[in-house]
Amino acid sequence: MALIVQKYGGTSVANVERIRAVAERVAKFKMLGHQVVVVLSAMSGETNRLIALAKDIQARPDPRELDMLVSTGEQVTISLLAMALKDLGLKAKSYTGGQVRILTDNAFTKARILSIDEGNMRRDLDSGHVIVVAGFQGVDAAGNITTLGRGGSDTSGVALAAALKADECQIYTDVDGVYTTDPRIVPEARKLDTITFEEMLEMASLGSKVLQIRSVEFAGKYKVKLRVLSSFEEEGKETPGTLITVEEDKTMEQPIISGIAFNRDEAKLTVLGVPDRPGVASQILGPIAEANIDVDMIIQNVGHDGTTDFSFTVNRGEYGRALKILEEQIKPHIGARAIEGDNKICKVSAVGVGMRSHPGVASMMFRSLAEEGINIQMISTSEIKISVVVDEKYLELAVRVLHQAFGLDKAPA
Ligand code: ASP
Ligand code: MG
Repeated sequence: MALIVQKYGGTSVANVERIRAVAERVAKFKMLGHQVVVVLSAMSGETNRLIALAKDIQARPDPRELDMLVSTGEQVTISLLAMALKDLGLKAKSYTGGQVRILTDNAFTKARILSIDEGNMRRDLDSGHVIVVAGFQGVDAAGNITTLGRGGSDTSGVALAAALKADECQIYTDVDGVYTTDPRIVPEARKLDTITFEEMLEMASLGSKVLQIRSVEFAGKYKVKLRVLSSFEEEGKETPGTLITVEEDKTMEQPIISGIAFNRDEAKLTVLGVPDRPGVASQILGPIAEANIDVDMIIQNVGHDGTTDFSFTVNRGEYGRALKILEEQIKPHIGARAIEGDNKICKVSAVGVGMRSHPGVASMMFRSLAEEGINIQMISTSEIKISVVVDEKYLELAVRVLHQAFGLDKAPA
């Protein structure tokens, strides 16, 4: 007997039929003698619909009230699933985040989980119940409903699995696992049987939307066995999905690169002719940080004649705001020559723990892009990833070329 946490995303509970299908899958695990805790998202599109309603009333919705509102989406699905489970003759009980007592801080719309009281859940599990918990939500110390940020149900699932020391946390979605890259761009993309936490973390932060980044961090920290799999596979044809592993398997030859990630949501800003003296970088990025704009890549060139150029990237949605700050606050203040911006760029990254022990990955990447005439505008690296910024029009080509160059379309030997 095992204790399994299963999290189902919005498309897996999109309507009554899908909810019934989830109930049947849960029943199968129950029948095998397992204890099951289910964590649900709202029906797909529901959270967006609720946010749009709020914005019709208030351009910048009050964060406390917004959480009160959007947390209702998950209440709909948990109660319906509990009913569907009872309809199959199982004992089931739904719980909101506050009822479990998933205690969070009070940062509305992006709260962090502080602790989880597993007492109620244990009692119900021991008396044979399936527990159905609303994802994405918790409660702060004062009793206010909070939410964990978009995609937060993944984090709820992993956090519950950690609290209950579950044997496995299964994330059911509409794809059957984590792929070497987006199959819509590269049809030859392969499903990975395993990927390490570190790689998954990079893939998630670099644009692969399979898991919320925080859920991966959480799983890595608490060593939760995490698996991504599909809830749409036909009965009897289910595949084991992708297992996210704590450590790279030392007995196996690792592929050098595990995946190619990309992100279209980027914009680049350049401050030209910046005086080359101490303090300039912080003078530029200070006001940007104060405006709560996240900066990703940063490049400063070697100075000539006492001046240099300084470039950085931000999320495309922040482009206008960042440009305005540079023009109005920074350019006159530090005496820069000009500000340039480009919001038609994208970031393409190669990710793999095998990079640590294999030199030459970067040069191979740059050569492959050069052969296609793709100009690299910026580069950044970490121990297990290399990212380049290129013109957005080359995104598909760059992803395809790199996927092939690193042999990702072929099954590992
Ligand atoms: N329903 C929430 C969202 O759409 C949480 C989730 O689905 O993970 O972001
Ligand atoms: Mg999701």
